[in-house]
Amino acid sequence: MADLIDRLVELVGTGAVLAGDAIGEEWTHDEALTAEAARPDVVVRPASTEQVGAVVALAAARGVPVTARGSGTGLSGACIPRAGGIVIAFDHMAEILELDLENHVAVVQPGVTLEQLDAATAAHGLVYPVFPGENSASLGGNVATNAGGMRAVKYGVTRHQVLGIEAVLGTGEVVRSGGKFVKSTSGYDLTQLVVGSEGTLAIVTEATLRLYPRPEHTATILAPFASMEAIAAAVPRIVGSGIDPMVLEYIDLVAMAGIEAASGIELGVDPDVRAQTLAYLVVVLEDRSARRLDEDAEELALMLGELGAIDVYGLPPQAGAALITARERVFWAAKANGANDIIDMVVPRASIPTYLARVAELAAESASFIVGCGHAGDGNVHLSIFQGDAEVRDRVLHDLFAAGVAMGGAISGEHGIGSEKKAYLRELEDPAKLALMARIKTAFDPHGILNPGAIWDPEVMA
Ligand SMILES: Cc1cc2nc3c(=O)[nH]c(=O)nc-3n(C[C@H](O)[C@H](O)[C@H](O)COP(=O)(O)OP(=O)(O)OC[C@H]3O[C@@H](n4cnc5c(N)ncnc54)[C@H](O)[C@@H]3O)c2cc1C
Repeated sequence: MADLIDRLVELVGTGAVLAGDAIGEEWTHDEALTAEAARPDVVVRPASTEQVGAVVALAAARGVPVTARGSGTGLSGACIPRAGGIVIAFDHMAEILELDLENHVAVVQPGVTLEQLDAATAAHGLVYPVFPGENSASLGGNVATNAGGMRAVKYGVTRHQVLGIEAVLGTGEVVRSGGKFVKSTSGYDLTQLVVGSEGTLAIVTEATLRLYPRPEHTATILAPFASMEAIAAAVPRIVGSGIDPMVLEYIDLVAMAGIEAASGIELGVDPDVRAQTLAYLVVVLEDRSARRLDEDAEELALMLGELGAIDVYGLPPQAGAALITARERVFWAAKANGANDIIDMVVPRASIPTYLARVAELAAESASFIVGCGHAGDGNVHLSIFQGDAEVRDRVLHDLFAAGVAMGGAISGEHGIGSEKKAYLRELEDPAKLALMARIKTAFDPHGILNPGAIWDPEVMA
């Protein structure tokens, strides 16, 4: 180990290598509620792609596991290192290399945070549209988890914004793929293979990201409904209307009570309406013209009434923004209230009510308490699971995932598989697909050193 540390110091410099007691607990975990923390042997903070390549080549030669780490805000245990491994952190590679205002792209190093990019793009009337609820997250982490968030219904997820990458393979080789263009039919799309691969295929050292005009005006509309079926029926009608909502979220009664209690916002919902409400639909519209926004908001309010909303509230700007912020922070409210796990199953959006009916049955059968909210426009159901018995919880999770997969869904819409959901992936995913994924993994990372233990275990790869 001492020899490995000496070699790493030679590669990246003394100040960029942490070992022993210098590795604080902040390097040992992410925000997953269930994952066990683990301490790496070494943390390196390279300053260039060449340094990342050299560190990975050294690790490959010695068979040492390497885990890339962004801001550690992940919810699946994906950046938790292997004991005896190296963590590569990107806080010394956190520069916006270019804002190209002609091609509408940003070229960023992986340690750049969403907050940092948002401030830089706002200054030019542009926006990078992925807002996955935690703005301290890094772009490297976002690319590796294919982060989604509330605005995906309008703009898509991270994979739709990544035009190109530079990345280090498990051999230490550096590859570039894609670039400042939106189309390419020039061989396999390696960019998209790396997006969402949770640091298991390659380490991203640069990303070229799509930017959009930043509309100035927004309107937030809150519609209480008496059933999830009515919400689910309303969602495709809203999406199909051409109004093009930026956010289309559902929040169940209990989750909304938690949001209101934690944030102290006053939504002005009439008590009689509240008494009939089972869940809320929150719609945010945006436009560069205030007049067009008002027209769309009025049309939407009428449509929501026709679609069975008990009432429709156009929230004042401050309350609207506060509701969205509080919705983004719902994870912290669930954690503070003792949630044992959080999952983000995705199903075809028309299947949400059927899926939630099954969730209610599973909760009752297992004496668990399961509540949630989600990206209704994307079929992405976020559930907080309160079940203290680990064995029972494991069974409930399995059944929740199995039910969603049977409806044509997938285990995670945006948080990823990480260390926490790999057993379910292994059991519920098509074996032929898993075998192909294993062969792809071997092509990118022949020594199996990149983030072993995330998505699957090394022994499964054999
Ligand atoms: C309150 C809260 C709300 C959230 N809401 C959402 C949400 O709505 N939608 C959503 O999608 N996510 C959400 N998340 C999860 C999280 O913010 C995202 O997963 C984010 O993309 C993780 O970024 P990070 O920089 O923290 O990555 P980390 O947690 O540090 O790492 C995540 C994964 O990326 C890999 N990685 C990191 N950097 C690199 C790199 N340079 N190259 C290769 N691999 C790399 C790691 O190895 C790991 O596998 C939320 C988290 C919190 C705490």
